Amino acid sequence: MTKYLFVTGGVLSSVGKGITASMLGRVLQERGYTVMSAKLDPYINVDPGTMSPYQHGEVFVLDDGTETDLDLGHYERLLDINLSSVCNFTTGQVYAEVIAKERRGDYLGGTIQVIPHITDEIKKRILCVADETKADIVMVEVGGTVGDYESLPFLEALREMPSEVGEENCFFIHVTWVPHIMASGELKTKPTQHSVRELRSIGISPDMIVLRSDLPLNEEITQKVARFCSVAPQAVVPMITADVLYDIPFELEKMGIGDYMMSKLGIKSKRKPTWRRWTRLAAESRAEKPTINLALVGKYVELHDAYKSVQEAITHAGLHNKVDVKIDWVQSEDLEGLTKEKVTQRLQNAAAIVVPGGFGERGIEGKINAVQYARESKTPYLGLCLGMQLMTIEFARNVLGLEGAHSTEFEHLTPHPIIDLMPEQRSLNEMGATMRLGLYPCRIQEKTLAASLYKTDYIEERHRHRYEFNNQYRQQFENHGMILSGLSPDQRLVEIAELKDHPYMIASQFHPEFLSRPLNPHPLFMGLISAGIERTKKLQK
Ligand code: GLN
Repeated sequence: MTKYLFVTGGVLSSVGKGITASMLGRVLQERGYTVMSAKLDPYINVDPGTMSPYQHGEVFVLDDGTETDLDLGHYERLLDINLSSVCNFTTGQVYAEVIAKERRGDYLGGTIQVIPHITDEIKKRILCVADETKADIVMVEVGGTVGDYESLPFLEALREMPSEVGEENCFFIHVTWVPHIMASGELKTKPTQHSVRELRSIGISPDMIVLRSDLPLNEEITQKVARFCSVAPQAVVPMITADVLYDIPFELEKMGIGDYMMSKLGIKSKRKPTWRRWTRLAAESRAEKPTINLALVGKYVELHDAYKSVQEAITHAGLHNKVDVKIDWVQSEDLEGLTKEKVTQRLQNAAAIVVPGGFGERGIEGKINAVQYARESKTPYLGLCLGMQLMTIEFARNVLGLEGAHSTEFEHLTPHPIIDLMPEQRSLNEMGATMRLGLYPCRIQEKTLAASLYKTDYIEERHRHRYEFNNQYRQQFENHGMILSGLSPDQRLVEIAELKDHPYMIASQFHPEFLSRPLNPHPLFMGLISAGIERTKKLQK
């Protein structure tokens, strides 16, 4: 019988529900259980694919091409699992399905209502996660904060789940925030109490309350929450913002959380938790390490969550290269219209440069300036999707002398469309879920940088883009030192490009950051950081 962990949030958003849930799941995984997770997002968009990263952080992409909330990235990375389309759904999807059924006549004669039709559809989808993945434990996180208008149908569906699958198979976790009042030096539990009261008024009694806080919470506080919110004292779990993310499970173990959850769910450890690889990971994170500087030149840099997976992939590669990587968040617009000297001044401390993915024209010329700087100064460079497109455009303009070279995304009538739409994209007139999405295969050319990094000639990587390298320019590029080292197996699409005679200048049409895992860093990021270490030595001389 599948066991369900339901995770709700209280007090405010962005308290780290996804990470909390992942860590609790990880504790059960360590005891031999298979864990899957799902995120239910109450907004009306069908998926986050059409949302600005400023609204919701990065759009994470799964193997099957589903565009999802960034929490799925946390789940994949921290639980080391691969999720699928059933693992993220929104109000938009639920309503679209119910309305389609109504139009088909599936409910003939009926009046379609939020309860039971919408809530039934939500429950069906939750059960589907268990059905499709066959996991022992399914974690279900509801986005937003209890008290939000729009999440009510989701919470009602959760409330009904115990009678659907058995009370003994459900465990409700409420994650809240404990604010600190600077003037009096107090930590306040009242918002948590109110939030739990709100949850109860919906009919859900939490089995566990996780108190997120930036400051240590003493027993007085956890006892107080236990008493006022009627949960067992051992089920009030302080979770303090950690310097080292990978230390969190050890804190949970010290508090006996794994055993508590299992006893409540009526299950026993299948194996003794050892945390063998995680112990090493945490120790390496904590260890004193030299620092290298990396410039991330992007459009949404004010909101680091917009580049969450890139940031994580950099951290993983730093960890495995035994360095701390300090990210300099460079707003690409700030590099626009600058002289070469000014661009150099801004970027000269960077031992590595990343130009991540992006859409739209703002900041494009700034990113191209960064690419030119990386190429000419021989600073290690990694381009991700748009970062590959711009690397080839810069090369076309400044090495091949193709004036006005551009992508037709930004300049319809460019004389040299280095990046252009494929015919299959031209005929599309809908924006949602119509890009090249998800895993695609790629063949790597022998004796290239890509081949030496991947140590294989066949890879599969996740994509999210509309535009592609224009094959008419292939020969010219190769003749002048840019190798198109990764191609789709049918050779139609350029997937990786790299520069000869440069310590490390490589870029991919796909997004390698989505496949990087703490214990399994991505080769393209590993190569970048190790080249960055060499560069740092040079800069220090
Ligand atoms: N805007 C570009 C395209 O659609 C790049 C997309 C991206 O970087 N993810 O092809």
